[in-house]
Amino acid sequence: MIELSLVVPVYNEADALALFVQRVGAVLRPLTEISTELVFVNDGSTDNSLDVLLALKAPPFRIKVVDLSRNFGKEAALTAGLQNAGGQVVVPIDADLQDPPELIPAMIAKWREGYEVVLARRVDRAADSWAKRASASAFYRLHNKIASPQIPENVGDFRLMDRRVVEALKSLPESQRFMKGLFAWVGFRTATIDYARPERSAGSTKFNGWRLWNFAIEGVTSFSSYPLRVWTYLGAVVSLFSFLFAIGVVIRVFLFGIDVPGYASLFVAINFLGGVQLIGIGILGEYLGRNYFESKRRPVYLVRHIYDDQAKQ
Ligand code: UDP
Ligand code: MG
Repeated sequence: MIELSLVVPVYNEADALALFVQRVGAVLRPLTEISTELVFVNDGSTDNSLDVLLALKAPPFRIKVVDLSRNFGKEAALTAGLQNAGGQVVVPIDADLQDPPELIPAMIAKWREGYEVVLARRVDRAADSWAKRASASAFYRLHNKIASPQIPENVGDFRLMDRRVVEALKSLPESQRFMKGLFAWVGFRTATIDYARPERSAGSTKFNGWRLWNFAIEGVTSFSSYPLRVWTYLGAVVSLFSFLFAIGVVIRVFLFGIDVPGYASLFVAINFLGGVQLIGIGILGEYLGRNYFESKRRPVYLVRHIYDDQAKQ
């Protein structure tokens, strides 16, 4: 018997949940050697997702609903779900069926071969807009250039994890949790299977452009100090050029005397360097702010109540 936990973050997914449970049931109910629990994390939904979740019955699956006190974001919701998942293997999966449950048996087959992590990689992102694909690809390229460990491109949170991996994730103490980065950081023996990412089953995406931008900043700053250090080198180069320029000016004064050209170049140089300095300060602020929140040691999420229907297998 394999104990499987599906961890499902839910934020305003009332219209998607019934379909989700139906699809998961169609895949997993015939597989009698797997006993499944569904761990839904209600991430402060403002629609009636919680009522829908509490009314769900899907025997023989056991259903747990972790009701958070407000919307903490998907990363926190996943953390809460992993904390409450009891299975030998754990699969985080979106409620909107963009992570097809049909892949789960293939993932479990890989796990049986001895892999501790089985990634699901989107080979076809036609369901995403051009802008989302382009910005995602730019993010992965930048992130993997300056951060370590590298995160695999086109792999989301949908993956199978062995209990050992889940325990490793639970032992990470940070409160700002960029899950893709943490998943990569813990390592373990990893296999990958490919799939085409379908459209959302119902409702609409919770990640607009601005939220994705902030998510990308979080990803880079969580796993790289390169943006902090680059200013040292930039400063060194600028200083070197200024010094050479100063020598040139002195020599010119000796050779040709003093004239007063160059208001325009002065103006440009001051503005440019002012801008560069502000960017540098902004990046310092970004890290300082993260440090500030991390040092408060607040919990990642708060639970209002955990419902557990204990359905028998
Ligand atoms: N989600 C969440 N909290 C949030 C935003 C999203 O729990 O603050 C959940 C959402 O309900 C869904 C999953 O995270 O199950 C992925 O969200 P979405 O489908 O909007 O993201 P996309 O697939 O567009 O990247
Ligand atoms: Mg989605």
